[in-house]
Amino acid sequence: MRTPFVAGNWKMFKSVAEARHLISELVPGLQAVEGVEKVLCPPFTALLAAAALLEGTDIGLGAQNLHWEISGAYTGEISPVMVAELCRYVIIGHSERRKYFGETDETVNRKVQAALTHSLIPIVCVGETLEENEAGQTAQVVSRQIRQGFAGIGGFFEASSASSVVVAYEPVWAIGTGRPSTAAGARAVVVDVIRPALAELFGAAFSQAVRVLYGGSVTGSNAAEYFAEPEIDGALVGGASLKVADFTQIVKAAAG
Ligand code: PEP
Repeated sequence: MRTPFVAGNWKMFKSVAEARHLISELVPGLQAVEGVEKVLCPPFTALLAAAALLEGTDIGLGAQNLHWEISGAYTGEISPVMVAELCRYVIIGHSERRKYFGETDETVNRKVQAALTHSLIPIVCVGETLEENEAGQTAQVVSRQIRQGFAGIGGFFEASSASSVVVAYEPVWAIGTGRPSTAAGARAVVVDVIRPALAELFGAAFSQAVRVLYGGSVTGSNAAEYFAEPEIDGALVGGASLKVADFTQIVKAAAG
């Protein structure tokens, strides 16, 4: 049994004051939904305020990135130790980080290792670009991202700890475009590519226990289509996570 999981990626939106306001509006509706792991990922600057507001709730807090070193001369970076002071989760390898900040499968791998070392739950993003999709390379690209992103980390996992990692399948062409993948298309990548790659790395039991999310233009109106697919365990939500009614509807849909 995989507990449904919904995370909101706020990207570079919301000042501290705006984040406080949004969280205070979100909490009552989200708290009312049971049986879903709910996570908010505001910008770094709002994490401290968010942690205070979420204390005592069943809503988790996540960062949108980290550096793999625990400290050092890395101006502008945030270490896993710092993230772990406030958060339980961290998004790693989002396509915007890969596209605009030069992240590679190798840096994703270092970050995943750093997150696990510091008991953070990484939400590892994979997904093909439009060009790769049109060239028929989806399986090859996503499989490579999983294999390289998770390379050398078998030691962190036992069959029982598959809940300590989350994978988000986010086709790049569907992110922020209002052109989501079909639920059947997302399911096919999860079933034919992501779980087999995880099984090869960590075994079938582990692969079946990992939560795999869909992300890319999920809204309150279309979320239920994805969650109707038993192989899709939730969603990583960008734009709609900033809208109280939409995000609450998505979380409710995940509860079934
Ligand atoms: C995301 O940022 O991970 C995302 C899926 O964005 P959106 O929901 O806006 O497409």
